[in-house]
Amino acid sequence: MNRRNVLKSASLLPFLPALSPTPDSNTVARKRSVRFAYVGDTHITPEAKPMESVAKCLQHVQSQADKPAFILHGGDVIMDALKQDQSAVQKQWDAWHTVVKANNTLPIEYCIGNHDVWGFEQAKNDPMYGKKWAVDLMRIGGRYRSFDRNGWHFIILDSVQPTPDGKWYTGFIDPEQLEWLKGDLAKTDAKTPVLVLSHIPIFSPTAFFSEQNVKNGDWTIPGALVLSNTPELLKLFYQYPNVKTALSGHMHLLDRVDYNGVTYLCNGAVCGNWWKSDVYQQTKAGYALIDLYDDGSVERTYLHYS
Ligand SMILES: [Zn+2]
Repeated sequence: MNRRNVLKSASLLPFLPALSPTPDSNTVARKRSVRFAYVGDTHITPEAKPMESVAKCLQHVQSQADKPAFILHGGDVIMDALKQDQSAVQKQWDAWHTVVKANNTLPIEYCIGNHDVWGFEQAKNDPMYGKKWAVDLMRIGGRYRSFDRNGWHFIILDSVQPTPDGKWYTGFIDPEQLEWLKGDLAKTDAKTPVLVLSHIPIFSPTAFFSEQNVKNGDWTIPGALVLSNTPELLKLFYQYPNVKTALSGHMHLLDRVDYNGVTYLCNGAVCGNWWKSDVYQQTKAGYALIDLYDDGSVERTYLHYS
């Protein structure tokens, strides 16, 4: 007699005690470990529209009935520090801190984005040159790190590697950081689910959005769009089935890829089309609520704040 027939005959026997649930995967409910908000590519400037919009976004995050516990900022906090002098960069960070102070009470964990790195040529000998300034303002202690929260292990990578002249960048995990990453994964309990965050995506079909990436009938995906040592990372994650999700921003586009047991999520942008309009390609400006569960699963809800 199969289960359906048991239920059928049980319904004909009113005095039979209710069937107790069997402990299979359908009946053991997963428990949420934490809900946080992914807020990224805010690209703030001291102008009214970006400041008001970021304020609105932060208020939207905190007005959720099911409120997130903290904010994970995926990088590109400010519009751009690459080619700007000190005072122009300072004004953008000031704008960010002013808006955050007035509109946010949640803790924020930051990840470095390419536009947060100070590459102004004349500042090469300044102690704040490169990532130092952003690391200090973000209060993250170093360009990459990991921490534990609510039963999950969070790994925040530095995916932005400036070219030697400081004028541009490519996306990859440098050898020193890769060694650290391998060690960090090795010492994490195999039962602890792992979330990886990198500003530039590790694995994302959003790189295919542009005809410009097709040359003579072949795809040419720049390392500035998707990490150039992705193959190495995919192999590494495959060795650690507790790596469950990898979040990113950078593309200002929204995608979800499930590959080898890892859910890769590219999470749009708060600024949409760099404030020129609130849609970039087909993705509307927004932020994501991320729910992590104790069974290692992840759910994302992308929200428009205006
Ligand atoms: Zn960006």
